[in-house]
This record gives sequence, C-alpha cells and structure tokens, in this order.
Amino acid sequence: MAKYSIFSLVLNSLTRHRHWRPAWRKAEPRPEYDVVVVGGGGHGLATAYYLAKEHGITDVAVLEKGWIGSGNVGRNTTLVRSNYMLDQTVPFYESSLKRWEGLSHELNYNVMFSSRGVLNLAHAPSQLDVFTRRANSMMLNGVDAEMLDTDGVTRLVPNLDTSPGARFPVVGGLLQRRGGTARHDAVAWGYARAADRQGVDIVENCEIEGFLREGDRITGVVTRRGEIRARKVAVAVAGSTSQVMALAGIEKLPIESHVLQAFVSEGLKPALDTVVTFGAGHLYISQSDKGGLVFGGDLDGYNSYAQRGNLPVVEDVVSAAVAMFPCFSRVRLLRHWGGLMDMSMDGQPIITKGPLDGLYLNCGWCYEGFKATPASGWTFAWTIARDEPHALNAPFRLDRFRNGYALDEKGRGPYPGHH
Ligand SMILES: Cc1cc2nc3c(=O)[nH]c(=O)nc-3n(C[C@H](O)[C@H](O)[C@H](O)COP(=O)(O)OP(=O)(O)OC[C@H]3O[C@@H](n4cnc5c(N)ncnc54)[C@H](O)[C@@H]3O)c2cc1C
Repeated sequence: MAKYSIFSLVLNSLTRHRHWRPAWRKAEPRPEYDVVVVGGGGHGLATAYYLAKEHGITDVAVLEKGWIGSGNVGRNTTLVRSNYMLDQTVPFYESSLKRWEGLSHELNYNVMFSSRGVLNLAHAPSQLDVFTRRANSMMLNGVDAEMLDTDGVTRLVPNLDTSPGARFPVVGGLLQRRGGTARHDAVAWGYARAADRQGVDIVENCEIEGFLREGDRITGVVTRRGEIRARKVAVAVAGSTSQVMALAGIEKLPIESHVLQAFVSEGLKPALDTVVTFGAGHLYISQSDKGGLVFGGDLDGYNSYAQRGNLPVVEDVVSAAVAMFPCFSRVRLLRHWGGLMDMSMDGQPIITKGPLDGLYLNCGWCYEGFKATPASGWTFAWTIARDEPHALNAPFRLDRFRNGYALDEKGRGPYPGHH
C-alpha cells in the first residue's frame, strides 16, 4: 500500500486522483486466528495495530458489526486531554496524550490532532480550589497545568462572557495547553489502515452472535459469517459490552449503557480557538476546522442501547452554551446525534485479562474513551500478548469493584450515570 506523502499526492493529482488504493482491504474472515478482536471502534483497531506492531502478533482479525467508524469513535466531540487527578489516572491519560502528539506520523495518516488547549471554567472560589488541587496533582505527575484568573480567561477566550453581570460569572480556570482535539473518524481510518498494513484482517459487517467454548475457556466466536476459532478473543465493543458479554454467559458487569448526544452548528468564521468547558453545568465546546461549533453536555439520563437522543437535552445543552457565549445565540444548530456510552461504576475503564480463560475485556470508557484510544489500544495489546497488565493499566482491573479499589476521580459514588 502506498505511503501517503507530498509525492504520492502530486503523483495522483497528475492522474486526476483515479489511482488511489482503498485505505484497507475488505478482508474475508478466515476460520482461525491467533487473536480475534471484537469491535472495530477506536479501541479495537488500536489494539490490533499495537498487537502487530509492538508484539509481532499479526494473525489478527478485527470483527466489526457495522462499518469502521459507525460507533462512538465517529460520534464523539473529539476532546483530548490528560487533566486528571488520581495517581492511577494521570499517567494513563498522559501516556495517551503523548501518543496523540506523534500519532499522525506514526500512522502515516493525518488525524488532525490540534493542541489548542482545554480550559475548565470555575464559577466560584471553592471550584477554583478544586481545580487548583487537580492542577497540583497533574504537575506532581509531570503534566502541564496552568491556573488562570478572570483576566487570563478573558484574554484567552475573548468571546466568552466573563463580565461581572454574566449569568454564571467566571472566577478563573484550569488550562492544559497541550490538550485539544483530533478528527475522530480519521483516527478510526488511520488505525484501520495502519493495522491492515501490518497484515491484520479488518472484517466489516461481521457481528458476533456467540462464543465458542471448551468448558470455561473461550476458543472462538460465532459470527453472522460463520464460526471463527481463536487462541485469544478480545472484546472492545464499548456501549454494547453488556450485550456481548452476556453471549459469553457473563450476565453482570459494573457498567451501564447510556445515550450521550453531540451537537454541531453551522460553519462560522474562526471564533473559538480553545476547548472550553462550563463549570456551572455540563458543557464542552470547541470549533472544528470546518468552522462548526462542536459541543456536548450530559447523558440523556436513562439506560438505553439507542444511538439517538431526546429534545430536552438539546435545550439544556444549548442554553448552557448561550449562557457562556451570548454571541452564539443566533447561530443555527446543524446536526445532532447520539452515541452509546459504556458508563462504569467509578467513571474509569476496565482493561483486563478475563473474566474467562481465553477472553480479554476492554470497556467502561464513559466520557473518556476517545482521548484514551492510543493508550487503551497499547495497554490492551500488551495485556493480550503477555497475559498480564502493563503498569499503566494495572489499576483498571475488573475486581477493583469487588475489592473496593474504586478510582472515583470526581467522588460521585457508585452511580454510572453521574460520572
Ligand atoms: C456524543 C459523544 C461524545 C463523546 N465525546 C468524547 C470526547 O470528547 N472525548 C473523549 O475522550 N471521549 C468522548 N466520548 C467517548 C468515546 O467516544 C468512547 O468512549 C470511545 O469511542 C469508545 O471506544 P470505541 O471507539 O472503541 O467505541 P466504538 O466506536 O463504539 O466501537 C465499538 C464497536 O463495537 C461494535 N460492536 C458492537 N457489538 C458488536 C458485535 N456483537 N459484534 C461485532 N462488533 C460489535 C460496534 O458496532 C462499534 O463499532 C464521547 C462519546 C459520545 C457518544
């Protein structure tokens, strides 16, 4: 497969772009693989890529129910950051952010990673104290963090209403300059293409409907396109985790599926060059390279497997956006959609060997899964290849919920919908 470069671009332009090859092969499933990865989202594709690249395991198939990019990897609001607080979470997300910084070169695919900064607004002195604590924890873990006062926020985001008369006056904020955005579906396509180049089979329209077992050991999967045996089966199906794991007889997991919506406005001239999150409610907003404002807020608030949301949340999220940026009040909303979120009991993921022999599980991503894609794939591949966790994902084991080692960053308790 040709390397993307200025030369291939010029060469193809001379032949009117008629000779570009597909980014990945349309592979037919074979009856047996070393590793089958279920789910062709960001995490499944990254896992397959790192299995091949880092561990030399190339006899791998990624089985995707729909098409590549049809799940959350192509539905999210694209925020990437590592502004966490716990000693277990900061190193994991920071390792992901470091991978983002070199990802376009590594994959030879422009994932449009943009370090435009992520600013969390504080609207009360007590909230500023909480952010200062988080900034200190980040810096103790070697991660960049800056505290801004109101003037600093105004200079950074002039279109934000920081006047004393604002609906929610701004007293300052926590800024991580290295955070930002990436183009979500380019990430799926980039990992798919890079995994394919390593020999991985990417099989679309191949839903798994059951597991092959010998006693308590998983030995393969049953798909719409026949049975496939595998030494190891890795499940990375995000919001469908409970349904897929039920096929393996695992009826109870500490996660729930919820709908989260994303919103895009009509295109505007450049008006917002950082990511801003609202501190008085739940809203995060940025402006895409095409000019649309991309924003999101809270979950729809009930368990669901639907990939569409409801109007009251539209009103709630849009009113928060207008409270922050009154200058956007006449902007028209262009599109909105829903994604299926795998919300865990403490807001952090599960990346683990088990819970059955031959089976490996990656799930529970809540709002954090897109930014985690590189680290999730890298550590999951390590766990699958070596049958033990890497130090980065060792805290994210399944039995932490039984043993009481919850990683509750926000202190919100065992309520998946609240993380
Ligand atoms: C609206 C929205 C906004 C978000 N914003 C952000 C954000 O700004 N930053 C951030 O870090 N995270 C964000 N997230 C979360 C993030 O998108 C997810 O956590 C992450 O994409 C999940 O991992 P994935 O990419 O592997 O999931 P997916 O892309 O959902 O991949 C799972 C795949 O499994 C497939 N599958 C399901 N069942 C089967 C089966 N039986 N057989 C075969 N395949 C199957 C699905 O079709 C799907 O393609 C957001 C999510 C949503 C919905």
